Amino acid sequence: MKRTVFDEDHESFRATLRAFIEAEVVPHYDEWFQAGIVPRDFYYKLAELGIFGIEVPEEYGGAGLDTFKYEAIIAEETTRAAVMFGGSGVHVMLCLPYLKMLATPEQKERWLPKFVSAEEMWAIAMTEPGTGSDLAGMKTTAKLSEDGTHYILNGAKTFITGGVHADRVIVCARTAAPSAENRRLGISLLVVDTKAEGYAVGRKLDKLGLRTSDTAELSFTDVRVPVEDLLGEEGKGFYYLGHNLPQERLGIAVGAYAQAAAAIRFAKDYVQARVVFGQPVAAFQNTKFELAACQAKVDAAQAVVDRGIEALDAGDLTPAEAASAKLFCTEVAAEVIDRCLQLHGGYGFMNEYPIARLYADNRVNRIYGGTSEVMKTIISKDMGL
Ligand SMILES: Cc1cc2nc3c(=O)[nH]c(=O)nc-3n(C[C@H](O)[C@H](O)[C@H](O)COP(=O)(O)OP(=O)(O)OC[C@H]3O[C@@H](n4cnc5c(N)ncnc54)[C@H](O)[C@@H]3O)c2cc1C
Repeated sequence: MKRTVFDEDHESFRATLRAFIEAEVVPHYDEWFQAGIVPRDFYYKLAELGIFGIEVPEEYGGAGLDTFKYEAIIAEETTRAAVMFGGSGVHVMLCLPYLKMLATPEQKERWLPKFVSAEEMWAIAMTEPGTGSDLAGMKTTAKLSEDGTHYILNGAKTFITGGVHADRVIVCARTAAPSAENRRLGISLLVVDTKAEGYAVGRKLDKLGLRTSDTAELSFTDVRVPVEDLLGEEGKGFYYLGHNLPQERLGIAVGAYAQAAAAIRFAKDYVQARVVFGQPVAAFQNTKFELAACQAKVDAAQAVVDRGIEALDAGDLTPAEAASAKLFCTEVAAEVIDRCLQLHGGYGFMNEYPIARLYADNRVNRIYGGTSEVMKTIISKDMGL
């Protein structure tokens, strides 16, 4: 089926990005993979390419485009080459929607130009060592000082993507104790300067996949956060998270779909070249059937993400629809990548083959941004169950 979601401008951006990845990422990727992080300077290159400003309003140095389609192309193209842009997906895909929705004009003036130029990289910290799925259970606190000029932040976060390189972190913290009737009340979003006293980056975590994104532990000991750096209204943090998580989940669905499509491409190339029992692996009927079954699933996933992208751009992607897209595409990707790896035999298990990296990178899609079980909870609630 012809894809209708992207126009000529999008395709021209795709071509530029593809060339950039070939020239600036692929030659260095093994080194970054071994180091477990991309160099900080690489983010300036992404900024020069205009990646961070696409959806930022023009008055703050961006291109002012109000669409998720470029994000989708970035996910597709990085995955196509089996690489990633470190933790920068969080900077744009997760943090920017909060800034656009909640920052005051004064805050946008302070933050967005440096966001676009990569002078300041952003991360978002929701998860804590004791709580991930159940965010209302968070223990990090932000207490307003007696003179009302700043919050005093105490607590710890974990699994924070971009946590090593981040200059500013949107930290979710309790500004009031949970009420008995509604545990979700009393959570606020604070923008924390990572150079502030009492702010510490703990371990850079050693992960199964996504090796080039820096995922870290963070801790806060009496960190002073000026009241001017409260994002949105005090106590409404949980509502804001609920509002923005659908975009994050659709982003994960797009990435998963793209991984599955890339896996088929890698497998197709491989089975045509590999000779076993005197014939290419591609000649076995099993290989053709396996790849055909994978293709049918990827076609379905593509239809789901394309509809999701259109719905998000139109402003009517519901939380349940985003959860459904994430659940479906991530489960499809897991199955397809596994089957494609199988067709590689032992070589599929070697990190030098991109299918091995895809296999490892894909696993987290069913965990972060809300687990598959949490997605099922959201969907079943929406079904009235
Ligand atoms: C690589 C990576 C990057 C991440 N980046 C970030 C980031 O940048 N910022 C951030 O804040 N967080 C980040 N996370 C955290 C991520 O969002 C959480 O790991 C995820 O939400 C799950 O939380 P948890 O790990 O505490 O698992 P838990 O909540 O402890 O879940 C354990 C198990 O219990 C199941 N479970 C939980 N609740 C239910 C339920 N109601 N019904 C049935 N089963 C249930 C889960 O599905 C899971 O199988 C990242 C995680 C990873 C692995």
